[in-house]
This record gives sequence, structure tokens and C-alpha cells, in this order.
Amino acid sequence: MKSINPFTEKTIKEYKEHTSEEVKIQIEKSHQSFLDWKKTDFEERTWLMTKAAQILRNKSEEYAELMMNEMGKLFRSGKAEAEKCAWVCDYYAKNSKKFLEPEIVETDATESFVTFQPFGIVLAVMPWNFPFWQVFRFAAPALMAGNVGILKHASNVPGCALAIEDIFRQAGFPENVFKTLLIGSNKVNEIIENTLIKAVTLTGSTSAGKSVAKKSGEMLKKTVLELGGSDPYIILEDADLEKVVPICVTSKLINAGQSCIAAKRFIVVEKVKERFEELLVKQMSAQKMGDPKNKETTIGPLSRYDLRDELHEQVQRSIEKGADCILGGKIPDDKGAFYPPTVLTNVQKGTPAYNEELFGPVAVIISAGDEEDAIRIANDSKFGLGAAVFTSDEEKGKRIAEKELEAGCCFVNDFVRSDPRLPFGGIKESGYGRELSHYGIKEFVNIKTVYVK
Ligand code: NAP
Repeated sequence: MKSINPFTEKTIKEYKEHTSEEVKIQIEKSHQSFLDWKKTDFEERTWLMTKAAQILRNKSEEYAELMMNEMGKLFRSGKAEAEKCAWVCDYYAKNSKKFLEPEIVETDATESFVTFQPFGIVLAVMPWNFPFWQVFRFAAPALMAGNVGILKHASNVPGCALAIEDIFRQAGFPENVFKTLLIGSNKVNEIIENTLIKAVTLTGSTSAGKSVAKKSGEMLKKTVLELGGSDPYIILEDADLEKVVPICVTSKLINAGQSCIAAKRFIVVEKVKERFEELLVKQMSAQKMGDPKNKETTIGPLSRYDLRDELHEQVQRSIEKGADCILGGKIPDDKGAFYPPTVLTNVQKGTPAYNEELFGPVAVIISAGDEEDAIRIANDSKFGLGAAVFTSDEEKGKRIAEKELEAGCCFVNDFVRSDPRLPFGGIKESGYGRELSHYGIKEFVNIKTVYVK
């Protein structure tokens, strides 16, 4: 396993993968650790999780450098990511006890109540795109609930994976409460088969989610799946385009477009489409592609060459099937896994830009006759992660978000984002289960009834 810098093309470091025997031994150690960890009280867990938050804040620049080197993230975005991880640690440090308070229920019993007990080892299979955030938003609630975690991170970010394990160690968590295994995806099934693994969470592509769900189903293990998305952004004719377009560009270009909740399809009502295109192209072409360390850079390299080439191929096939490329669409000659800001318009059903997830700085515009048609197109997708609607009529926006859009997170007049206080997750092929908020911490607990007579 090795990490390659997608900007310099240089190999950063090579790592020896854990063998099946080492994996088995680690699972046994993690289980032993769970037997003690589950007995700790919330005060102790809170103290340790708060320490983890402090380390993340204090060393945010070091972690930003690591993310930048391993997967091309802008330095300032990496720093913000580390700080957001500190936020989620603090959030669960402060609220977990309240979230998992036993619930007394009046029945025929002398006493009956519901209690929330940890499962044991939770396996987390994680992606490279937010290499710290995705892990902490699983780990903070899981550990606070009394579980222990084993991380199988994406193969291109082993340095981040080891740094995260080190944060928990430095914070003072007992050995093996959080452990990283350096393994490829071919070893995931044998881990799921181990009876000491009690639950699995995967954030990644729909195909990886289906594979993990299949094996976990066979073993009857609880799963949470946070998968791909093709978030629709509906632009209605009463939307204030001068305000809306910068929001759309920000959402499209977060992490160079490599975000599950980036704006993936702009569904624009015919009457305002021309103006929307004009503003979008102007702002997309004003972006600065380059060294992720530079303050002026707004788009760094994509994380891997193979993923850049795959994206280009999706763009090419969409153009062959009738889409108009009005910006970008050509791989630059410069070194680094760069892809330019690209705008495809007049995108039709049956093309990759309409049906698939495009993971990069490619904006897709689909025109809609009216509001009803826009909602129909938005829901005409196998995905259902996030969605947004832009209109100057707030009541209309709320109705569409609440009742009409088929997605787990629907925003009105703003871009979709995650927040520790709000549940996050998808429906349809974007997965199931929820992370964050009090819903997230209840995914990996035994909701146990106690009845005393
Ligand atoms: P990916 O290829 O699915 O990889 C994600 C993780 O799954 C990696 O650790 C990978 O390991 C592992 N994996 C891949 N195939 C597997 C299999 N068959 N069985 C078990 N594990 C497997 O996804 P990615 O390219 O890293 O990430 C991009 C995708 O993640 C996009 O679709 C994006 O939308 C989605 N995502 C979703 C969310 C969300 O919250 N819903 C958040 C971020 C990203 P290796 O690296 O060793 O292959």
C-alpha cells in the first residue's frame, strides 16, 4: 500500500499491509478492550473525547498538510476539516450522556425502561475524500456510546488513517479502543465474517456499499451505509440568480467537486436557464486551479489519476450523447491529477451526466419546463442523498423540500452540508441509516427493554 501525492506525482511512503493473521489478532485485542471500555462512565469518555478535540485543533495544520499530500485537498480546507472534526468530538463529548439517558416507560411492571447498550466492535470502511471528517463523524458517537472501532480506510490515505489512530492514543484512550488496519478492500469480507465484529459502517460508492451490505446481511450484522449521490439543485424562475449562482458554484467546487453532497445536477426552469448558464460559466471560469498550498488556489488536483480519467470519460460519453460542453472538458497538459472547471448543458436522460455520479468539478445543467417538471427530474435518479431548491418564495421552497424531494437532506436557498446537530444520510441507492445528531449515536447501540416485576 502506498500513498502518492496527486500534485507532485511523487510516492510519499510505502506501507506494509496487515496480514489476515494480524487482522484476526487485532480483532481479538479490540474485543478485550471493549470488555473494559463499555464499563467506563460518560465522564471519563467525555474527558478523553474533549482531549481528542484539543489535539485536532492544536495540530490542524499538520493534519491539513497530510490530507493535502495524500489526496490533494486545499491546505485551508484540510485545516477547516480538522477543526470540524474537533467540533464533532466536542458535540458528542457534551451530549452523549443526554442522548443515551435511559427512558422510563409506564407499563404493568414495577419498573420498565429502555436502555442503550454498546454493541462491541464496529468496523468502519471509509473513503478518501474527507479523510478525517468521515472517520470522526463515525468514531465520536460510536466510542462515546461505549463501542470500540476498527478502521479500514481508503488505500490511498494510509498516513491519514494512522494519524487518526494516533490522535485517540495521544488523547489517552485505552490501547485498541480505536485501531487502524492497513488492508485492501479484498479483506473486508473476512473481517465481517469474524463473530467479534458486531456492526459495520461504510461510507463510499454504491457498489462498495452493496458488497458490504451483502456480506453483512449474510452474517446478520447491522449496517449503516453512506453512499454516493447525485444531488439535484432546483432553480425556479423566481430565484435571485445573482445570489444563487455563487452558492451553486461553492457547492459544486467543494473539495474540487469530490463530495458526496456536492451539487451534481442543476435543474433550471427554462425561463431563467440562459442567464443561469451565463453566470455559472463566468464564475466557474474565474476559478484558480493549482498548488493546493497556495492561498489563491480554489481547485487543487483530484485525488487520483484513475478517478480523474474516469471522470473525463463520463464527460466525453455525455458529450457524445448530445450534451453541450460550454466550459472546460479537456485534461490539462500540466503535471498533477487536475481536471478543469467544466460546464455541461442540455444534458439528457440516458447520459452519464444525467444518470451517474460525476465526482469532480463538472457542473451539469438540465432544463425543466416548470416547477413540477423540475421536481420530476430531481427525483428521476437512483440516488437520494441531498437536494436543494432555490426560490424567493420561502413557503414554496419549504413545501418542495419537505414533501416533494426524495432525499435524506433537503435545503432551501442554501447548499447541502453536514452539521453535527442534524442527522445526515440518504435514501434509495445513497444508502440507509443516519450519522450525526442523536439519531447517529443510536445506530450502534442495543435498544434494550428492561422489565422488572
Ligand atoms: P469507494 O471506492 O467505494 O471506497 C470507499 C471505501 O470502500 C474504501 O475504503 C475502499 O477501499 C472500500 N471498498 C471499495 N470497494 C469495496 C468492496 N467491494 N468491499 C469492501 N470495501 C470496499 O469510494 P471512494 O471512491 O473512496 O469515495 C467516493 C464515493 O464515496 C462517492 O460515491 C461518494 O459519493 C461517496 N461518499 C459518500 C458519502 C456519504 O456520506 N454518503 C461521503 C463521502 C463519500 P479501497 O480504497 O482499498 O478500495
